[in-house]
Amino acid sequence: MKRALLWFRRDLRLTDNPALIIALRECDEVIPLYIHAPEEEEPWTPGSASRWWLHHSLSALASQLQARGSDLLILRGPSLDTLQTLIVDHRISHLYWNRLYEPASIERDKRIKRRLSDQGVECHSANAALLFEPWQIANRSDAPFRVFTPFWRSCRQRLPELGPPHAAPSRLKPPSASHHGLRADDLELLPDVPWDAGLREHWQPGEKAALKRLQAFKRRAVEAYDGARDLPGIQGTSRLSPHLHFGEIGPRQIFHALLSKTPNPTGGAESFLRELGWREFAHHLLYHFPHTDQSPLSPKFEHFPWAWAKQLPEELAAWQQGRTGIPIVDAGMRELWQTGWMHNRVRMIVASLLSKNLGLHWLEGARWFWDTLVDADLANNTLGWQWTAGCGADAAPFFRIFNPVRQGERFDPEGGYVRRWVPELARLPDARLHAPWEADRQTLERADVEPGVSYPLPIVDLKQSREQALSHWNRIK
Ligand code: FAD
Repeated sequence: MKRALLWFRRDLRLTDNPALIIALRECDEVIPLYIHAPEEEEPWTPGSASRWWLHHSLSALASQLQARGSDLLILRGPSLDTLQTLIVDHRISHLYWNRLYEPASIERDKRIKRRLSDQGVECHSANAALLFEPWQIANRSDAPFRVFTPFWRSCRQRLPELGPPHAAPSRLKPPSASHHGLRADDLELLPDVPWDAGLREHWQPGEKAALKRLQAFKRRAVEAYDGARDLPGIQGTSRLSPHLHFGEIGPRQIFHALLSKTPNPTGGAESFLRELGWREFAHHLLYHFPHTDQSPLSPKFEHFPWAWAKQLPEELAAWQQGRTGIPIVDAGMRELWQTGWMHNRVRMIVASLLSKNLGLHWLEGARWFWDTLVDADLANNTLGWQWTAGCGADAAPFFRIFNPVRQGERFDPEGGYVRRWVPELARLPDARLHAPWEADRQTLERADVEPGVSYPLPIVDLKQSREQALSHWNRIK
C-alpha cells in the first residue's frame, strides 16, 4: 500500500496542481496537508495582509477538498518534525510538494528532502508556480539573464512546449487513518483589531474566485489591456496577483485560457503575457541571486547613502499613511492601506518618491509593502523596488526620477483616481489637482482646500530632492 502526503504550501488549488496529479497517479492513498510554520520563512515571514489572505484561502481549499470526499489536515510546524511524526503514525511511503523559489524555502526543502530520503521516504517535487523553472532559461554563456528583453525572448520561444493544464480531480478518496488537525481559525491569522473591512470588500480569496476573476478579465479587459493597464483610475488590469502568489491559479492556466490558441497574440494579450514574463523574470533573478532580497543586485549601489527609518521617521510615517502632500502618492498609499493592493503605475511612483526624493532605503518601502499588500511576493516585490530605486537588474536608470506631478497628469488626467482616494481635494479643477500647492488662493477657497490644514503641504521639495539624489548618484556611478 503506497500512502502519500501531499504537502500544500503556496499552491492552494486543485486544478493544474502537478504534485497532486502525480501523487494520485502513483499512490493508493493521498493525505492533503498544510503545515503552518511562518518562522521558516524568516526574515520575510508573511505580513498582516498575507495572513488575512492565507486564512481565507486555506478555508476555501478545505471546503473544496471536502466537497470531493477528502479534507485538509492543518498542523503547526516545524515542518520537518511534523512530517516525521505523520510519516511514522500513518506509515507514509511518499511525500509530494510543489516547489517554492525563495531562498529560505529552498534551503528548508532541501534539508527536508535529504533527511526524509535517508529515512526511506520517496520525495517528489514539481513546478506549479512558473511557466519555466529558473534554471531552464539561460543566456548563450549558460549564465542567468540580467536583462528582461532577451530573457523574455528566450521564454517566449519555448511557450509552445507548455502542455495543457490538468483538470482538477472530481473525487478524492477519504484518508483511511484519521489525525487530529486544526481549523484555519486556530492559526490566528486574522487581525485582533478588525482593520480588514476593505480587504473583505475588495477580495475573495480561493481557487474558485481566482478562476472567476480570470474569466471576467478574459471577457472584459484583456483586449483593451495595452492602453488601459497604465491608468490607475480604471480596472484595466487583471488583479490576479494575490491569487497567483498563493497559487490559487497558475500562470500555465492563464496562458492557456487567454493565449494558447493564438500563436502570435497582438495588442492586449501580448502585453499581458509580457507582464507574466516579468513575474517569471523576478523569480529567475531571486533564484540566481538570492542575496537580492536584502542587497542591491548592482554592486555599485552597495554604499549608496540611503537613509533608514530611524533617521527620517516622520517622512516614512507620512509616506506610509498617505499624507505626503503629493496627491498621486497619497492616493496610492491610501488605496494600499484600505484595499491591500495598489496599481502598478502608482507602485512605481510611490517607490520612486521614497527611494529617490525622500532618500530612504528601498528596503523600508519594501517592508511596508510586505506587510500591507495582499499580493506581497518576495520575488516581485524585490524586483519592483530594486527596479524603481535604480539598483536592480534592468533597472530604470537612476537619473530617470519619476516626477509625481507629471505622472499624475499623464496617467490620471481627469483625476478620478486622486479624487477617489484623496476626497479632500475632490473639488480642485483638473489643472491643479496633481499640484495643489500651485493653485491660487481663490481656486483653493472655491475647492475648500486649506493647504497645511485640510491637506498637507508637500513634505519634500521635488526639484531640490531630485538634484540631491542625482548628486549622490554622480558620486557612485
Ligand atoms: P496585471 O497587470 O494584470 O498583470 C498580470 C500578472 O503579471 C500580475 O498579477 C503579476 O503576477 C504579474 N506582473 C505584472 N506586473 C509585474 C511586474 N512589474 N513585476 C512582476 N510581476 C508582474 N507584484 C506582486 O505580485 N507582488 C509584489 O509584492 C509586488 N511588489 C511590487 C513593488 C513595486 C515597487 C513595484 C513597482 C511593483 C510590484 N509588483 C508586485 C508588480 C506589480 O505592481 C503587480 O504584480 C501588479 O500591480 C498586480 O496587479 P495585476 O494582477 O492587476 O497585474
